[in-house]
Amino acid sequence: MPTGSCKLCCVEGELQLSHFIPKFVGKWIKDTSATGFIRLNQSVNKRAQDTAKDYWLCRGCEQLFSGWEREFAKKIFYPVVNEGKSEAIYGDWLAKFCASLSWRTLTYIRNVSPDGHKGCEGVDEALDQAESALADYLLGRSNNLGKYEQHFYPLEAFSKTNVRNLPANINRYILRNMHMDILYGEKGVMVYTKLPYFIVLGLTGHSESTRMRSSRVALGGGKVSPREYWWPTGFAEYMFRKAREISGSYKSINPKQRKVIDSALKTNPERAANSKTIEAFNHDHKIFGDRAFFE
Ligand SMILES: [Zn+2]
Repeated sequence: MPTGSCKLCCVEGELQLSHFIPKFVGKWIKDTSATGFIRLNQSVNKRAQDTAKDYWLCRGCEQLFSGWEREFAKKIFYPVVNEGKSEAIYGDWLAKFCASLSWRTLTYIRNVSPDGHKGCEGVDEALDQAESALADYLLGRSNNLGKYEQHFYPLEAFSKTNVRNLPANINRYILRNMHMDILYGEKGVMVYTKLPYFIVLGLTGHSESTRMRSSRVALGGGKVSPREYWWPTGFAEYMFRKAREISGSYKSINPKQRKVIDSALKTNPERAANSKTIEAFNHDHKIFGDRAFFE
């Protein structure tokens, strides 16, 4: 096992191979897919066995994160994705879990594309501050998040096209995709972590934060329930654009890869028919008709 300094607590020692999006999420996508494999958006021509990971954390920090992950998996993620539950009571672990996702996304994206915000003045310093404020909170050195509040959005399938510009794969994007990004906008920089059925937005100061109350995670605990959520300006358009990009990248899957997918579907048609992949596709097909096949 390689040694180095832990990206979170900075202590030198052996580093664990850490997942950026928690491992159980990738496993659930794989287990409920039509083919039994995951294709990462960036490399659709390669079957990926796993999601992004790197030598990032020491054993202690890895264990800290996995404690909050277990609570989230057991009390929110599985009840929603497997049983269709829409309400959950949460404890102080949800704010920690969301902050840990935002910290992972922030450090991951800055590592893989350090020039992502070229031309935006002061952003590097702002992101450094966000990283260290999140780290202080995760390590228990501070007991609040200040302007780095975490917003949690449970997503439901769209059942009608009453929203302008909806891409015909929107339900597949919402229900099946994982995605990490940093969003730069006039109103503030946000850290975006997309899981199947859920979005976490980590703010770094945002001029619309007071209007976003309903999605803000309470530090001490609270309740997740269906409610009116307020999206920051430009955010829905961003998501639709990302959904379209993915649909574009799937179109570019080369013929040989199409054959691999086709034969996986033929080998186990029952698995495919009962899969969550097909269920998400059916949501799109119901509202878009045959357009859903081409997007
Ligand atoms: Zn550590």
